[in-house]
Amino acid sequence: MMAAIDRLRRSANAGVGCMAQHCCEMMRSNVENSCDAHEDRFDCPDCLLHYSTDPDRYGLIIHDGGSSTITISYCPWCNTKLPNGLD
Ligand SMILES: [Zn+2]
Ligand SMILES: [Zn+2]
Repeated sequence: MMAAIDRLRRSANAGVGCMAQHCCEMMRSNVENSCDAHEDRFDCPDCLLHYSTDPDRYGLIIHDGGSSTITISYCPWCNTKLPNGLD
């Protein structure tokens, strides 16, 4: 877990251009994180969060072999209220 965050922080610092606006750098690096070993982010234990549009919402990836997420309402890092598709 800590190692994963450390790796994310490094890749965030490398800078990969800007796509969607996210509340903070940690959120951005987590929803944009992908790895070479797993083609599907839902198969990757290092991918913690999924961002989907229409409606905008952020979800914690449940690694149960499927593609379930738990919608989160606040950013775990900066505590910003997040769109959850319910407003
Ligand atoms: Zn945030
Ligand atoms: Zn992976």
